Amino acid sequence: MHVRYITMPRYYFKCSDAGYNCSYEVDGATAEELEPKIKIHARYAHNLFEVPVEKMNAFKAAIKEKETS
Ligand SMILES: [Zn+2]
Repeated sequence: MHVRYITMPRYYFKCSDAGYNCSYEVDGATAEELEPKIKIHARYAHNLFEVPVEKMNAFKAAIKEKETS
């Protein structure tokens, strides 16, 4: 019997992928879910109190999708 799983797309963000020398990582079910977490991290870890649009776009571009089985 073949059981087919609906694989839930999971998204993850590594701060190092956005160009920081930083080990912060976060993941979530949607890319949107990650954005506020990235903003909070950027604020406290990188002194970006207001994340500029270009920087936010760079963060979003660094969000990657992974498959979980
Ligand atoms: Zn960071």
